[in-house]
Amino acid sequence: MCLRRLLSLQVGRPENIVGWYHSHPGYGCWLSGIDVATQLNNQMYLDPFLAIVIDPNRTISAGKVEIGAFRAYPEVRHDVRLFVSSC
Ligand SMILES: [Zn+2]
Repeated sequence: MCLRRLLSLQVGRPENIVGWYHSHPGYGCWLSGIDVATQLNNQMYLDPFLAIVIDPNRTISAGKVEIGAFRAYPEVRHDVRLFVSSC
């Protein structure tokens, strides 16, 4: 059992982590290269795991929530590329 799980049980919060979120103020909802690497790493250990990105600036200017939900999929090819899909 991992340390995070042991500590969560110890404090009476046995919930699982199912994802992460962050904002891209003014530059849209997508996953950067670092975001994709972070997502792939977490999916490897905590799957199912979801990435959510929100753009608060575009949300305010458009009057509707600018949000994306993502999972990352490594492509199995010789020139290892990563693809991202959104909901
Ligand atoms: Zn990001």
